[in-house]
Amino acid sequence: MAASGSSGDSGRPDSDRAAWFRGAGASCSIRPEARERSYRLVLLGPPGVGKGTQAELLCEALGTCHLSTGDLFRAAGCDPNPTPALAAALEAMRRGELVSDEMVIDLVRERSGCLRCRGGFLLDGFPRTVAQAEALDKLLQERGESLDAAIAYELPTEQIVERLGGRRTCSGCKAVYHVVSRPSRVPGVCDQCGGPLMERDDDRPEAIRVRLAAYESTTRPVLEYYARDGRLKSVAADGPPEQILDRTLRGLGVAQGETP
Ligand code: AMP
Repeated sequence: MAASGSSGDSGRPDSDRAAWFRGAGASCSIRPEARERSYRLVLLGPPGVGKGTQAELLCEALGTCHLSTGDLFRAAGCDPNPTPALAAALEAMRRGELVSDEMVIDLVRERSGCLRCRGGFLLDGFPRTVAQAEALDKLLQERGESLDAAIAYELPTEQIVERLGGRRTCSGCKAVYHVVSRPSRVPGVCDQCGGPLMERDDDRPEAIRVRLAAYESTTRPVLEYYARDGRLKSVAADGPPEQILDRTLRGLGVAQGETP
């Protein structure tokens, strides 16, 4: 897996996320630097709301590691001999459906070392159900850690559909672009690693509809779960990415220019 962590002030990746992608005992060769303050965050929001872009910007600003369960499944999709459980998960993913809680929780549990990373973490795409949110709290508690906040991005449905239609993802490092709002310098080519930019299978219109319905029925209650004890921070996801980042940092109580 190509190095694809965030870039700090030094311009080099803060982490190669090897422990996240390879799991079970793998460790990152590039590790985030110790910070005065490390953040443990969850990013929530419907598909297409711009979570991937915000995740990259937030990781750069806060020095956290971007942990996406969707990236794990896409990476696993290249496995020529998937186990029956993984094959079923990938089939569910292609239909735009959620993978089973059991499978996803197992994957995260195998990578729970990442939850103790000194750079903190930014979970993107997990948890998506209340059962997953409860499992995450339990994993963190067992390790003496806790979540700082769950950031929920909100955007009207029409804007979501427009965004997803133009989204392109690098097949190498998974960086996310948009043909209109965040184009790569050379069309179809990733700015970061030179890899080809692809439209995801699950960004097809029929899969988008299934994913939005899944979000409303199963992930909306996760927002309520975090709202109950004050961990939810809702952020309007309209406008340019830098403006959304600014809103997010203010929601976290981090002033721009004072990032850890
Ligand atoms: P994403 O890139 O986060 O939109 O994830 C892409 C797909 O991976 C989803 O549509 C699901 O099929 C699957 N997936 C990723 N994370 C989860 C999760 N936490 N629970 C269930 N399915 C997931």
